[in-house]
Amino acid sequence: MKTPMWIDSHCHLDAPEFDADRDAVWQAARAAGVAEALVPAVCLSNCAAVTACCARYPGCLPAYGIHPLYVMAAQEADLAALADYLMRHRPVALGEIGLDAYVPNVDFARQEFFFAAQLELAQEFDLPVVLHGRRALDLLLKHLRRIRVKGGIAHAFNGSRQQADMLIGLGFRLGFGGALTYPGSTRIRRLAEELPAESLVLETDAPDIPPRWRSGQRNTPAEIPAIARELAALRGMTEAELAALTTTNTRMALHISAMYRHSRK
Ligand SMILES: [Zn+2]
Repeated sequence: MKTPMWIDSHCHLDAPEFDADRDAVWQAARAAGVAEALVPAVCLSNCAAVTACCARYPGCLPAYGIHPLYVMAAQEADLAALADYLMRHRPVALGEIGLDAYVPNVDFARQEFFFAAQLELAQEFDLPVVLHGRRALDLLLKHLRRIRVKGGIAHAFNGSRQQADMLIGLGFRLGFGGALTYPGSTRIRRLAEELPAESLVLETDAPDIPPRWRSGQRNTPAEIPAIARELAALRGMTEAELAALTTTNTRMALHISAMYRHSRK
């Protein structure tokens, strides 16, 4: 039987956690059938590492942006520098950007300023957006309604059905990963089971959000097929069906064709 082909729609393969064995980690992912991964930057100084990672590993696709938990260290001038970087390096998406009310002591007004400014950049460069929204989805939606972008992916989605429907209405797919493998994650599991099939994409968020069987350890992109098995069981689909579905969904979310890799060179 042919091994299904998977895409990890959110993977920080450039992260320092992989410095010691990055080649082996990506090789293991490839061996597991993970052919592509979206690698989002978290701040301006991180963009070069993402670029280098995606240049080294065919199948890794870059996104550039300033993450909400990194806005404290960011300067306003970073936005112009990001625009310049977008112009020169042509990523597949802008991200990851968003709002995070979970971690204390991060200036929320500053998060909103950087989020809105980067949504405007996504408009200007006509790029889909990789969203990070935690405990702030209503406010995030408010900005998305005001500054319309061409959709994208709401990564590690953990909101209500109503918030999910609103994001889908704005052109977003929703990212599901390790969290759905925990029996206690009842809301995420129910959403993964019930949301429209065309809205689902798979992600690891490696090295973070390990699945149940790697709890407390480093997560890697090779976990995608095992996470997908749990999602396939929830939805009553075969793994091959889910692989085809989520691969198509991710490509559509990022507006990329199967030929992207080759045309980019
Ligand atoms: Zn991330």
